[in-house]
Amino acid sequence: MDLQLKDRTVIVTGASSGVGLATARYLLGEGARVAACARDMQRLSAAFEEFTFADPDQILLGTCDVTDKSKTDAFVALTNDRFGGIDGLVCNAGRSLMATLDETSEEQFREEFELKIFGAWNMVRSARGELARSGQGSIVNVNAILSRQPETRLAATSAARAALLNLTHSLSADLAPEGTRVNSVLLGLIDTGQWRRRFEVANTTQSYEEWSAEIALDRGIGMGRFGTAEEVAYHIVTMLSPLSGFTTGASVDVGGGVGRYI
Ligand code: NDP
Repeated sequence: MDLQLKDRTVIVTGASSGVGLATARYLLGEGARVAACARDMQRLSAAFEEFTFADPDQILLGTCDVTDKSKTDAFVALTNDRFGGIDGLVCNAGRSLMATLDETSEEQFREEFELKIFGAWNMVRSARGELARSGQGSIVNVNAILSRQPETRLAATSAARAALLNLTHSLSADLAPEGTRVNSVLLGLIDTGQWRRRFEVANTTQSYEEWSAEIALDRGIGMGRFGTAEEVAYHIVTMLSPLSGFTTGASVDVGGGVGRYI
């Protein structure tokens, strides 16, 4: 099936690793132009070296801290100069803070909201005009099942995720008249850099596979494993496609059955 993404321009934030990198790979494979950003340019460039199949003219790499609106404005302007418009935006940059409320300082709590809410909100405000000019703009906010099903060890992250899901619904209503759709993917536990880093400091004699399968069991993931970044990227790319043109304000769970809500 042709997803009709050829020659469309999509910004992907947090593209140097995990879900963002897998999304960029799929988009490039579909012939889209990808404007990819993260804070560490060296890591971003090294990650994109694997994309030898893509035409270098399809790719724009840049540094951008999404918590700073002047940086998101600058990256959007750069993208527009290079590709002459923007059709899609994937707000993916993020990390999580594993701590109960008692263990979370006020500063950490604010940082979670800065990254999870303002990180997306800044990019949306910066790119809104270009997405409207596209006439078929599509925004995908990468969020978590935690937004609907909070966990005590992820208290601040859960609160920030719930706020992002709520904001996504408001955005979908406000931007629909401009022809821009806004949707979410809600992640469960996905095997990316985040989990590899946690494994490295876990001080265990288990293999990564044994360690992650134990966590999957403990968290009640029906499928008994972590998901892959590609299993998330697939949904992001289909939501970006004009073939999903009547879908806005929607969310899809990618959690292997961990979501317990109706
Ligand atoms: P990774 O840790 O693999 O990658 C995170 C990316 O975000 C990196 O490219 C990082 O690059 C970038 N980033 C972090 N902070 C900023 C910032 N302030 N500005 C710009 N870029 C930033 O993450 P995942 O692929 O695992 O996660 C992707 C998204 O999914 C995140 O929002 C995450 O919170 C969410 N999620 C992930 C889950 C999982 O189990 N993996 C579960 C639920 C949600 P750099 O550091 O160079 O900026």
